[in-house]
Amino acid sequence: MLEEIRTVEFVVLPAARAKARKMFQMAGACRYVWNHFREKNLADYQAFKNGKGQRPHTSYFSLGVEFTKLRHETEWMLELPANPIKHTLKYFADALKGAMAGKKGFPKPRSRNRHAPSFTLPSKENFRIKNIDKKYSLLLIPKIGWVKMTRRGGNPYKDSVPKQVVLRHDGHRWRAFVSYEVEVEKRSDDGEILGVDMNVHQVATSDGHFYFLPDFKKKEARRKRYQRRMARQVKRSNRRKDTKKKLAKVSRKIANIRKNWVHQTTKEISGKCGTVVVEDLKVKNMTASAKGTVENPGKNVRQKAGLNRAMLDTALGELRRNLEYKCGRLVEVNPAHTSQRCSECGHTDKENRKTQARFRCVSCGYMSNADTNAAMNIRRLGMAQLHGEERSVFKRTPATREIDMRLTHG
Ligand SMILES: [Zn+2]
Repeated sequence: MLEEIRTVEFVVLPAARAKARKMFQMAGACRYVWNHFREKNLADYQAFKNGKGQRPHTSYFSLGVEFTKLRHETEWMLELPANPIKHTLKYFADALKGAMAGKKGFPKPRSRNRHAPSFTLPSKENFRIKNIDKKYSLLLIPKIGWVKMTRRGGNPYKDSVPKQVVLRHDGHRWRAFVSYEVEVEKRSDDGEILGVDMNVHQVATSDGHFYFLPDFKKKEARRKRYQRRMARQVKRSNRRKDTKKKLAKVSRKIANIRKNWVHQTTKEISGKCGTVVVEDLKVKNMTASAKGTVENPGKNVRQKAGLNRAMLDTALGELRRNLEYKCGRLVEVNPAHTSQRCSECGHTDKENRKTQARFRCVSCGYMSNADTNAAMNIRRLGMAQLHGEERSVFKRTPATREIDMRLTHG
């Protein structure tokens, strides 16, 4: 048995006006605290970076002392629960530590327009959850009261102890992300290893299956149109507000479709194997420039350069994370040459891949779908990494042979 954190997403149903207002106030207070501490620490941080002055305090504890002072100086904050607002400092302390270590820049200000209103109920002392029936649950937020939440399919962890709740407004309604610590049975490793090739339009697996990314073109175009429209509208005008709402709606739809696709795809893949091998996306992104790769010069330039590319990266990142926890084991391999190498004989040649879709080895004549061939190479690299034997890289099993036959002759 393993202890793992699982987060369940609920939709918070519209609460009484007063409650809703208070929730926005909480989020506003968190933003205020973040910006206050940011400003307070900026001068110290810059002085320290220039070699003058003391190292700013970066611990949650020392920031907390400062917070108590601030809270008693700010009247309106006294009416709101302290712990959730104080918890902002935990995020801020992490951001500051990252900046001090030189990993990141100094924390940016939180803006009302650019950041979704959110706050965290950090520990089980700060909230209560009651599951009424299969559909509805109640959440008690301190000094605000009970709010009703719902989730399609009910609460899968209703018997577990909730650890933390994050509330976030998505521009339409509040959502509650409840984290549970659950005991999960470690998936028995059935020895099946699957290679996954992630591409611009699709995901291919080494067993010859394809999972096509949903088509966002129309929605993406609409999103861009709203963005352009918003840019030329007068700030704070009603028309601009209207466009902003529409923009938020279409963005939300895109995100939801993507999320569903990721869940469905990873569920299917994880049902087939205990270990999944993927390309190291960090390495892949470094080598894949907007101008295209060596393997694929100039093609997909637009997708790689534009918004689509950003969307795709998010989807692939989510896919990878989901595969990791659903399959049990995830192996990352260097993506170099995976699309040019023949998965049958190992011959690596640009000529193997004259077209985008087909793979035809110039050495042994092996033919396959180019992405399936890449997925097979990825699988082999993963197996070599796991077993530490280069030899196993081109050993074929009856199962893969059968797929090859089908792909070659089918
Ligand atoms: Zn070959």
